[in-house]
Amino acid sequence: MLTNDQLSQWDRENFFHPSTHLAQHARGESPSRIVTGGDGVFIEDRDGNRLLDGFAGLYCVNVGYGRTEIQDAIAAQARELAYYHAYVGHGTEASITLSKMVLDRAPSNMSKVYFGLGGSDANETNIKLVWYYNNILGRPEKKKIISRWRGYHGSGLMTGSLTGLAGFHKKFDLPLSQVKHTTAPDYFRRDDLNQTEAQFVAHCVSELEALIEREGADTIAAFIGEPVLGTGGLVPPPAGYWEAIQKVLKRHDILMIADEVVTGFGRLGTMFGSDHYGIEADIITIAKGLTSAYAPLSGSIISDKVWKVLEQGTDENGPIGHGWTYSAHPIGAAAGVANLNLIDSMDLVDNAGKMGAYFNKAMADAVGGHAHVGDVRGEGLLCAVEFVEDKSDRTFYDSSKKIGPQLAAALLKRNVIARAMPQGDIIGFAPPLCLSKTEADSIVLSMADSIKEVLG
Ligand code: PLP
Repeated sequence: MLTNDQLSQWDRENFFHPSTHLAQHARGESPSRIVTGGDGVFIEDRDGNRLLDGFAGLYCVNVGYGRTEIQDAIAAQARELAYYHAYVGHGTEASITLSKMVLDRAPSNMSKVYFGLGGSDANETNIKLVWYYNNILGRPEKKKIISRWRGYHGSGLMTGSLTGLAGFHKKFDLPLSQVKHTTAPDYFRRDDLNQTEAQFVAHCVSELEALIEREGADTIAAFIGEPVLGTGGLVPPPAGYWEAIQKVLKRHDILMIADEVVTGFGRLGTMFGSDHYGIEADIITIAKGLTSAYAPLSGSIISDKVWKVLEQGTDENGPIGHGWTYSAHPIGAAAGVANLNLIDSMDLVDNAGKMGAYFNKAMADAVGGHAHVGDVRGEGLLCAVEFVEDKSDRTFYDSSKKIGPQLAAALLKRNVIARAMPQGDIIGFAPPLCLSKTEADSIVLSMADSIKEVLG
């Protein structure tokens, strides 16, 4: 390994990091870390720190680090055939096997899976397919997409537009005009504090209906949403939300895209978030948990209803004009097959449900009563703690106080990685699905200590 100083210098001089303050990084003013290894829920860095990764990378290393089963599958695939494309009917044993494994696990109305590389490109694929679908059905006006404020769907041109977070729009000339945002189903952050949860759901529904009315249902093609809001703050939906929203979508013949990049393959204690909340999606986006990030791979799972129209489209127009060089990359597919087998053999979906319930309760018991903890929420192995200056009237801290980042830094001192979610003073946890009770307890203890250090 190169000497530490030399690597740091090369990093500052050459490496354009995503989601980073570029100027501060280049000047060496912001923290950086060079990661060298990992096993189970832990990562190691070049300075010899061993850190409990309470966010599984970017909620993606679901089986945990260092799994030889996946490493060996990747190596074997690389030796046998590192690459061949999937265009015009080509495939490999790994890509064909993985598509069957995905469909075997998906809701029963699903028909086919298209493989991409990451969540953003999968959602780009989805929107193109939705537009194609409505063109084939002779409804060229029905093209707008409804997304939610605080939703996260990627950072491409279309997907950055779907993402309902200002930081992904500002100075990028986004969102594109075809995207319309509606209310975030975030009960804790409701405008009217007197609203009950049921009244808040009714409010979300009426806002959606008003948007559809304003735009015209015949101009709206699809609604996209994460079963649980992720990057927007790890917010499970209020009770009855998905049932009520889907009624509106059905009434207006609007397709439902469930973005399961985070929730797919077990994070909520069910194989898909759609199973968890009774979402009947027309298209499901998958990525992260598909390979546990051992290799880049994403997918768009297409329902029978949409697939039939796509087939009709190619009968009328010839082969579909959509594809990436690396679609269904054999190494990604081999990682996916080994990963899904490991999720089964380690019983990780079940562990996510049981350990998630334990972890969320332990967190709420340990810190929920603190004067500045406004909300402790979660589902499966997602957990968030949101901080307020004054609990009685839910006054948020001024963002300049950087309470969230201070807490994340305090956790890091205790060798625990958590994510200071950017949309408020929110500390998010999404550990690998193999989390044990001892590891859950140690995160909770570190969180309680960190709160004491930063907020008293
Ligand atoms: N959709 C959701 C729900 C996500 O959380 C993410 C990434 O965090 C994406 C899409 C984009 O995935 P990627 O970063 O792989 O492009």
